[in-house]
Amino acid sequence: MAPRVLIVEDEQDLASVMSYNLRADGFETARVDTVAGARHELGARRYDLVILDLMLPDGSGLDVCRWIRAQGPLRDLPVLIASARSEEVDRIVGLELGADDYLVKPFAVRELVLRVRSILRRTEPPPMREDQIEFGVLRVDRGAHRVFVEEQEVHLTALEFRLLTTLLERRNRTQSRDMLLVDVWQLSARLDSRTVDTHVKRLREKLGAAASYIRTVRGIGYRFVGTPDEPESN
Ligand code: CA
Repeated sequence: MAPRVLIVEDEQDLASVMSYNLRADGFETARVDTVAGARHELGARRYDLVILDLMLPDGSGLDVCRWIRAQGPLRDLPVLIASARSEEVDRIVGLELGADDYLVKPFAVRELVLRVRSILRRTEPPPMREDQIEFGVLRVDRGAHRVFVEEQEVHLTALEFRLLTTLLERRNRTQSRDMLLVDVWQLSARLDSRTVDTHVKRLREKLGAAASYIRTVRGIGYRFVGTPDEPESN
């Protein structure tokens, strides 16, 4: 899902340019031009980041920032202040109020986009462990260590389960036999890579209708397909 950015800016030309460039970079944007508009929009929809002008027709962007930080559900919403006011005091107050970054106008729009990206990277929560993975006819419940194919439970050994989830997590990326020995078997030495083949064969047999998701990459290892309906061309 594209990150959603709310632009709070009363200079319409600048707002358009920011919006255009953010969209070109894969963001979704919405624009408001007042303090009241910002509050209304933030109360009504989910955003991933706010770009905040300070001098707005009905008040200060700092008030919006203060208001955001006082709202339970919005408290952690990243805020980038973009203001023509370059006084150090504004910068300090803005950052004290919890703004994540401060950009002084005029700025290159490219710089703005980079800052937005960097804030989102910084504030992004660590990737959630997917406990329930559904992939075509396959469903893996990692918490419960259970696997279902076409809603029928398939009983895997602990090792087969680890092999399956490792391939699934790294789907669409070829895993060499050596890599799998290290990561699944926790063997650091190149013992016997045919061990991997034997287990993949057994795993495929158990997976039945989902067996074709695990492709052999000749001379290298295995690859879990990127999408359940990927044609069998290789
Ligand atoms: Ca303004």
